[in-house]
Amino acid sequence: MLSLIEKAETGHELNREELLCLLSDASNLQEITAAADRVRHEYVGDEVHLRGLIEFSNICKNNCCYCGLRRDNTEIHRYRLDEDTIFKLAEYAVTQMGLKTIVLQSGEDMWFNSQRMCALIGRIKTLDAALTLSVGEKSAEEYLAYKQAGCDRFLLRIETTDKILYKRHDPGMSWKRRRECLNDIRRSGMEVGSGCLVGLPGQTLESLADDILFFKQINADMVGIGPFIPHPDTPLRNAEKGNFDLSLKVMALTRLLLPDINIPATTAMETLASNGQTKALQSGANVIMPNVTLNECRKYYELYPGKSVTNCSSDKSLAKLRAKISSIGRSVATDKGFRKRQNNLQIETLSVIMPSNKN
Ligand code: SAM
Ligand code: SF4
Repeated sequence: MLSLIEKAETGHELNREELLCLLSDASNLQEITAAADRVRHEYVGDEVHLRGLIEFSNICKNNCCYCGLRRDNTEIHRYRLDEDTIFKLAEYAVTQMGLKTIVLQSGEDMWFNSQRMCALIGRIKTLDAALTLSVGEKSAEEYLAYKQAGCDRFLLRIETTDKILYKRHDPGMSWKRRRECLNDIRRSGMEVGSGCLVGLPGQTLESLADDILFFKQINADMVGIGPFIPHPDTPLRNAEKGNFDLSLKVMALTRLLLPDINIPATTAMETLASNGQTKALQSGANVIMPNVTLNECRKYYELYPGKSVTNCSSDKSLAKLRAKISSIGRSVATDKGFRKRQNNLQIETLSVIMPSNKN
């Protein structure tokens, strides 16, 4: 077992059987996370990148069975922030809080068409910050328009590489289309972020091994991994929640295989375990996404209940976050935090052949 971890730490390659072997033994968590922490230190350093997250609309045309924002959830109060409000939040985060990246996230809200989105991107890009979008599936032309308007990165989790599971939990959506979107994002020239949920009902360790290999195959620039947390107003209300240790292990293995990418310590990790984000930072993560959304809207962006919020909208909360980061011997980055590619790790990106899986 140790030799497999050593192999991953030094060569950054493991096959499906080797990943499965590591995933199925709960006793190796400490060794794997320690190795991921060393690799994180060696390749991306001790700096933690803060990305200011603005959840600008919780309106969504999709119906993902795990998500509280799904179309059929009538219990949720829907909101949409206007362009001026979003810009002011971004401006505050950059000029007052000193954040170097803004992340705009929403449900798939069709009001924000290409023209409106590009106007917003152009305005935010007048600030001295990088911009990430996380707004779902769009056409290749739209992704290109985002890039041309100045957007730097796009996050689109594949959610799971198990196509049967995807079909079950993402009704009306197509895994193939989501996969194509990731190619279109890559072709647009934006950095590509992806990720998965850990603990979806019916998910196997084999499919988690495939997820990690998928991130490697598409050469993702960022990977966000979070445990699934059931929401009471969704079809998965009675499902078991994801396991924190397993989520941490999937994240750590992703760091071992993709040593130079950006990996967030996700909000779902913090929600599921006390100090979850700190543990994630010590297990391969190097990014935190503090929330800079309007206070009155935060409670309505409820993907899952009890969503923990890393605050960064006052000097006090920023000081607290900085203290938390320095308490583990890390510091806050002062640059925009693009992926610093290691030349010896170039991987061909375009076509991906996934392990056979019906549909
Ligand atoms: N609508 C866009 C999309 O789906 O790509 C972006 C926003 S969506 C709310 C962001 C992420 O939230 C999803 O990719 C999904 O992995 C995560 N999420 C949704 N419901 C969740 C749940 N119940 N537990 C944990 N994460 C969840
Ligand atoms: Fe909509 Fe994204 Fe939630 Fe799916 S995960 S329902 S696309 S907000």
